[in-house]
Amino acid sequence: MTKYIFDFDDVLFFNTAQFKPHMYKCFEESGLPYDVVKKYYDRERAKGFVLENLVKAVLHGEHVESITALALTEKILGACKLFLNHELIKRIKKLGPDKCYLVTHGVKAYQVEKIKRTGIGPLFAQISIVQDTKKWSVEHLCEQFTDDHIIFVDDKEKRFADLDFKEYPNLTTILYLGPETIPEIFEQGT
Ligand SMILES: [Mg+2]
Repeated sequence: MTKYIFDFDDVLFFNTAQFKPHMYKCFEESGLPYDVVKKYYDRERAKGFVLENLVKAVLHGEHVESITALALTEKILGACKLFLNHELIKRIKKLGPDKCYLVTHGVKAYQVEKIKRTGIGPLFAQISIVQDTKKWSVEHLCEQFTDDHIIFVDDKEKRFADLDFKEYPNLTTILYLGPETIPEIFEQGT
C-alpha cells in the first residue's frame, strides 16, 4: 500500500499565492499599506511567524486604534478555508485518513490554528509540526510502515536534503510545483 505525507503551506494551503495577499489586503483596509506592514512582517518572520504577533506589532507601532488586534487577526484568519488547494484535497479525501499524514514546519500554535481553520485535520491519520527539519517525522513513518511505499510531497527541495534514502528505500519524494504535480503524486500509488 502507499502512504502519503503532505506539507501544508504552499501544498495543501495556498499560503504564499493567496493567504499572504489576503493578509496584506486586510491591513490595507485598515489604512496600513504593504510597504509599512512588510517591514514588520520581515521582523516577525525572523522570530518565527505568528499572525497575531504581527498584527499586534503593526497596530501598536503605527498607533492604529480604529481596529483591535483581535478583530484584525480574526478577519485575516477567518478566511483560511478559502485558500485550500481543493484539487489536491479532493484526491486526499478519496484516499481516506489512514493513508495520509501531514508534516508542517512553523510555530506550533500558529500552524495548529491555521489547520484547524481550514477544517482539513480529520483527513489525516496524524499531524506533525516541526521547528527545523522534517527528517525525523518522515523517517519515523518510513520505519513504522516498512512494507508500504511512502510518498512525501513538499514544495521545498531543502526539506528532502537530509533524508536517508539508503536507510529507507520505501521513501519517494515529490517536489510540489503546482496543480501540474498532482497526477504525478497519485499515479505511483497502490
Ligand atoms: Mg511548504
